[in-house]
Amino acid sequence: MGESTKQHDASELAAGYTAQHRTYEICGIIVAIASSSWLIARIVQSPPLSGWWMPLAALVGILLSDFISGFVHWLFDTWGSLDTPVFGRLAIRTFRHHHVDQKAITTHDFIETNGHNISLTTIYSVSGLLVLRSAETVTLSDVFICMSLVWATLFTAFTSQIHKWAHQDQPSRLVALLQRTRIILAPEHHAAHHSAPYNRNYCITVGWMNGPLRAIRFFETLERTITAITGVLPREDDIGKRAALAVATENGTLDQPDEKKALAVTRD
Ligand SMILES: [Zn+2]
Ligand SMILES: [Zn+2]
Repeated sequence: MGESTKQHDASELAAGYTAQHRTYEICGIIVAIASSSWLIARIVQSPPLSGWWMPLAALVGILLSDFISGFVHWLFDTWGSLDTPVFGRLAIRTFRHHHVDQKAITTHDFIETNGHNISLTTIYSVSGLLVLRSAETVTLSDVFICMSLVWATLFTAFTSQIHKWAHQDQPSRLVALLQRTRIILAPEHHAAHHSAPYNRNYCITVGWMNGPLRAIRFFETLERTITAITGVLPREDDIGKRAALAVATENGTLDQPDEKKALAVTRD
């Protein structure tokens, strides 16, 4: 990162991956596989099922998964610190670690890479099971929603794996082909996220949502609103106050001179 950035120590962050955290990930993977298998079984048994809707369900599921990857990534990159209750050690640590040591992810095994994301897909499959809870009243739109959730489950489950491939020097030929055709996140597209001003391309599943979200200034608007309400400077814990102030000024997050001055004084 640039000269004015101030970041955490990589080895300290890496040491935060504890045995308890790994146990939680293994349990999460088991629960997620069970609940998504149950959802697929319920979809297959549903009378209004039609394969013709599958391509559209896949597109909706992939876009949903890409958007969620961007939203969660932005949330933990931009706000909070290692001391944030629950999420500090559970999630924010891995995001800070990745920014100070991009290649570390390529050395993580399957559980450390994917455990968290696979566990979180339980939210999709349980939502789908609730939609299909009464077999007699299931409609085609219910089944469509659930098919989309299955695709979102698949892509969210492997978002970190796809992200890991984007940082690998020599991915397999099949992975390289998927990256070149933009079916999964392309390394050069993701590289923009790791370059100044560190506020682009948060979506890391396929990256298709990055352009539209940037066009409507989605994250910039959220940051401006949150800073106006709370006075908290975005990404201060990630890149240090000086660099964070520069990015916020460039983003238009701090357009009131008084606000800029107050943050500069109180956050030293
Ligand atoms: Zn990031
Ligand atoms: Zn990355």
